[in-house]
Order: sequence, then C-alpha cells, then structure tokens
Amino acid sequence: MTFCDVAIIGGGPAGMTAAIECARAGLSTILLDEQHAPGGQIYRAVEHASSHQLSILGKDYEEGLELVREFRACGAAYVAGATVWNVNPELRIIYSKDGASTELATGALVVASGAIERPTPMPGWTLPGVMTAGACQIMLKGPGLLDDGVTFVGSGPLLWLVAAQMITAGTKPRAIVETVPRSRYVAALRKLRLNSPTVSYLKKGAALMLAVKRAGIPIYPGATRIAVVGEKRAEAVTFYSSGHLHRIETALVALHQGVVPNQQISRLLRCDHVWNENQRCFVPRFDQFGETSVPNVFVAGDGGGIGGARAAALQGRIVGKRIAQKLGRAPSHDIDRLLSKLRAELSIRPFLEALYAPSVDITAPADETIICRCEETTAGQIRAVVDLGATGLNQVKSYLRNGMGPCQGRVCGLAATEIIAERRGETPSAVDYYRIRPPLKPLALRELAALGKAETKP
Ligand SMILES: Cc1cc2nc3c(=O)[nH]c(=O)nc-3n(C[C@H](O)[C@H](O)[C@H](O)COP(=O)(O)OP(=O)(O)OC[C@H]3O[C@@H](n4cnc5c(N)ncnc54)[C@H](O)[C@@H]3O)c2cc1C
Repeated sequence: MTFCDVAIIGGGPAGMTAAIECARAGLSTILLDEQHAPGGQIYRAVEHASSHQLSILGKDYEEGLELVREFRACGAAYVAGATVWNVNPELRIIYSKDGASTELATGALVVASGAIERPTPMPGWTLPGVMTAGACQIMLKGPGLLDDGVTFVGSGPLLWLVAAQMITAGTKPRAIVETVPRSRYVAALRKLRLNSPTVSYLKKGAALMLAVKRAGIPIYPGATRIAVVGEKRAEAVTFYSSGHLHRIETALVALHQGVVPNQQISRLLRCDHVWNENQRCFVPRFDQFGETSVPNVFVAGDGGGIGGARAAALQGRIVGKRIAQKLGRAPSHDIDRLLSKLRAELSIRPFLEALYAPSVDITAPADETIICRCEETTAGQIRAVVDLGATGLNQVKSYLRNGMGPCQGRVCGLAATEIIAERRGETPSAVDYYRIRPPLKPLALRELAALGKAETKP
C-alpha cells in the first residue's frame, strides 16, 4: 500500500491549490480525481481546449490554465481517472482506476470533491431529452458537442452562463424559462454588500443576461407549475408565466436550480453536517481552516458550501497551509491575509442565495413526481411512508429502496429530505440525510474481489 502525508480528493481549483501548498511545504502529496485531466468542473479539460473552445467558454475558463500549470509543476503526485469509492476513519482511501482498485493510506485528507447540480424533480424530468445545464456545458468543454434549440428551465448564474456560451458557439437556445419570482429581487437586493468582487460578479452576470437578450432568446420570468411533456421523449415544456399558460415545443430541455455540495465523502467519514438554510442543503461543519469534526479531515471548495471557483481556490490554499502548519512544515503568517480575501470573495453569496433559492415547485413537488430516479419512487410514495411512521431518510430507504441505486442517493437525497421535513412539520436538520456507505460509485464485483492484488504506482 502507498502512504502519503496528504491525500486530496478532487482536482478542481480547491484540490489543486491545496496540493500546491502541501507539496511546496515538502509534504508527500497525492491528488486523486475521477476526471482525466486536472481542472474540476469549472476548468474541465482546459489543457486540451482548442482556441475555438476557449473563445466560446470565455476568459474565466481560460484563466484556469495558469492554475493547472502551477499544479502540474508543484511536485504533488496526480492520479487521473481515479474514482474514490471508499474512505475509512483510519484514512485509508480506496480508489478505482482502469478497472482495478488500489488502497492508499494518508495522514491528512482534503475532501475537495466540489458540487453537483441540485436535482430538479418535476413532472417529465426523467424523459429522454431532458438533461441539466451543467451537462450541456460538460459536452461543450469536452468533446465540443452542441445542440440547437435547447430550452433552459430554472434559475441561477450557471444557467445564464451556459446559455450565453451556447450563443457564442452559434447554437441558440430556444428559450429561457426562469423560475425566480419577481418578489425575490427586492429581498435579494437588501442582502447586497458592495465591494470589488461583488461589483465584478454583478457586471459579469448582467453581461451574460444582456448577451441572451440581445440574441433575441425569449425569456419567460417567474415561471411556475412547469412540466416537461412527451410520450416517449421530451416534446414540449408547459408552464405559467405572467398569468398565462405557455407551451414551448422542444426536444431538448436543460434543467438547472443552482449547485449544492457533493457531500458523499464527508458523510461517509461521518463528519458532522449542518443544514444551511440559505443554500437549502447540508454542508459539513468545519473550522475557519477547513478542518471538520473528524480530526485531520479537511474540506475545501464547493464541497463545504457553494462559494464559486475563486473562493474554492482560496480555501484550498488555506487548508494546504494549515496542514503544513499543523505538521510543523510552515509558518501561518499569511493565512490571515487569505482568510480576509476569502471573506470579500464570499460577500456576493447572500445576494445570490436569496435570489436563486430553489423554487417551491422543486422543494415541494407534486405527488406523482418521481424523486428517486434509480428506484423510480415518487413524492407521493415518500409522503405515504412518512404517514405510516417513517421519521427520516433511512427509514424511507428501508420502505422504498430510495437512495439504494447506482447514484447512492446523490440525486434524490435533498429532495427527499425536504419532502419528509414538510410532511412531518420538522426541520430538514431533524430529518437529516442518508447514512452513506461504500461503494460511493458503482463498482464491478471482480474489481472488489481483486482488491489489493494490483498496485497502481501514483
Ligand atoms: C456541472 C458543473 C459545471 C460548472 N461550471 C462552472 C463554470 O463554468 N463556471 C463557474 O464559475 N462555476 C461552475 N461550476 C461551479 C463550480 O463547480 C465551482 O464553483 C468550482 O469549480 C468549485 O471548485 P472545487 O474545487 O470546489 O470543485 P470542482 O471544480 O467541482 O472539482 C471537484 C472534483 O472532484 C472530483 N471528484 C468528486 N468526487 C470524486 C470521487 N469520489 N473520486 C474522485 N474524484 C472525485 C470531480 O471529478 C471534480 O473534478 C460548475 C458546477 C457544476 C456542478
């Protein structure tokens, strides 16, 4: 088995900066990531992007090249295509790569596993032709695939970004069906604290919206009661906006309701989690240096709460320096400077969280809406077993097998928490989340059987 001082899961901005700081301090550092190149979600495949892709994806994306180069040169070992499927409390990590599983033991662990898009259960969301805005962007960043006439449904900065990127690429979306209620704007503006990062984000957001408007894309504000309709695949989206029922014929629908922390690894490690009312999701509890309730387990980046790429990069540096300091390899004098930059960077969040809170259609879906896509159970079935006495997610799992499919609850977890909390008249905190168990991702039985027989040298 390989041993290292620090292992990092996730090669996005947070994981890369944590690795840079740890390696610089002389710690043996290994970064594992399931993608095939460093960059995470925002800088996905940036090293391999063509100049055409760079021009479509914009300056923020291209900026990632510098960080990826710094990471490549930092001396940390990097294992690409490595999917971590288990971590135990002794900090032994098991990851799968090229069909073989390998164990790694570490003194400190940084969970930098980022965010996932908030699942958006609504009528018709499981039909072929329905995907997420992030998935559209993944196709843009990777193979450069694009499709004309996508209808975007939901809310959040990423929705506008992907729509604007598709326009630049010459593939116009059909429409934007936005779910932000008009009343939210005033409440959100009250949360705005102007400083230089906030102003820069507001300008970027306004430019994206303007690009979409200038391209003549129809925008339907304040949409409610949304459904994707179709026999065998998506054929149309129906919704109410400005007091009227609308129907848009479309074969491709991209749903988006913001992003939420990917909490599978911190849950597996039994780190304490708390419900974040503003982001309407669970986040691991950690101190200002990123250390969780489990000693020597740190979180950095969006996996600890959504803050965006720049905040993720700062958090990674803070965590890396803190680990080096704890191990007696570095002074702590510049952590304070990074912490104050991080606070400034995060000051846009209360505004964004108030404006782009998930719509009620999503948090309280109709009875017939499928919630667990793996087991095809509905909101109504969850409510029925709550009425029978199920008190939380793990009991609902026993009744309905929710969260037992290949996604291990990543897709249904938050929606099911909200449904149970509402039905029981309790807080999401009281309902809590699935007890996450390995394997975190689907695994072939032969790979499990062969565990320990093949050693991959990082
Ligand atoms: C689909 C999607 C697209 C996004 N696009 C943008 C964008 O264009 N612009 C923007 O500003 N923000 C974007 N975001 C938000 C964005 O993710 C960030 O704010 C930023 O990338 C967070 O950085 P991070 O380092 O915390 O995590 P990430 O960049 O998400 O990196 C996390 C990494 O962890 C890896 N990982 C997760 N679980 C495992 C595991 N079990 N084993 C191994 N590796 C694992 C993932 O493959 C990923 O590479 C996007 C988010 C999503 C979900």
